Amino acid sequence: MQPLIVAIDGPSGVGKSTTSKRVARSLGIPHIDTGAMYRAIALAGVRAGVSVDDEVRLDEIASRARIEFVPDSANPRVLLDGQDVTEAIRTHDMSMAASCVSKLPAVRRVLVRLQQAMGNLAGGVLEGRDIGTRVFPGTPFKFFLTARPEVRAARRFNELKEKGSSETLAAVLADTTLRDTQDSTRADSPLTWNESYLLIDTSDLSIDAVVAKIVGKVTAGASNFLTPS
Ligand code: C5P
Repeated sequence: MQPLIVAIDGPSGVGKSTTSKRVARSLGIPHIDTGAMYRAIALAGVRAGVSVDDEVRLDEIASRARIEFVPDSANPRVLLDGQDVTEAIRTHDMSMAASCVSKLPAVRRVLVRLQQAMGNLAGGVLEGRDIGTRVFPGTPFKFFLTARPEVRAARRFNELKEKGSSETLAAVLADTTLRDTQDSTRADSPLTWNESYLLIDTSDLSIDAVVAKIVGKVTAGASNFLTPS
């Protein structure tokens, strides 16, 4: 029996995080937010005064960093070397820095290994950009979420507004487009999908409907996988 791995990939603003958390809760397996790991390394680099394209130093930082997820359903936290960085990694600057750092093959190598180790420990719902193409290409449960660009930008805009940001919708649309272009065109593990994925356009679907679709597919095919009793 193998651990149950569910891959949820897609660009920003498609509802990946909310969906992945709820799918993980419903299946009783950990939620692993791989974007938070790239963000944590970007933050560690910025705090150490390292440029986002310094592959040698960022490789060292990634190799030494201790990234932990504290799975509290009401208030999950991300720790970097024991320090709570949950909010610090969510800023606009860290989104862009993470996208730059994630282009570096050395950093990807370290984080992919860590993600594989975490998933192999107890299974998991892994959300990211390359889970089904690179991190766990063998899992039969791969979902690629998409949404129309204006819907994605509006969702990000509302999320940021709730956190008190004063960014305009036009600025958010420009940022999401830039980050997604950067993520889709990098040489190492670009954001993409293939025929082994189920593609779900979330533009006109509720989160409930997306979660139900994914959980339904996984439970229908999960009998050969280790799941918590
Ligand atoms: O998902 P999130 O927006 O938090 O990810 C931040 C950045 O981390 C993405 O824009 C992308 O550049 C990078 N990332 C990645 N591979 C993953 C997850 C995230 O390259 N598996």
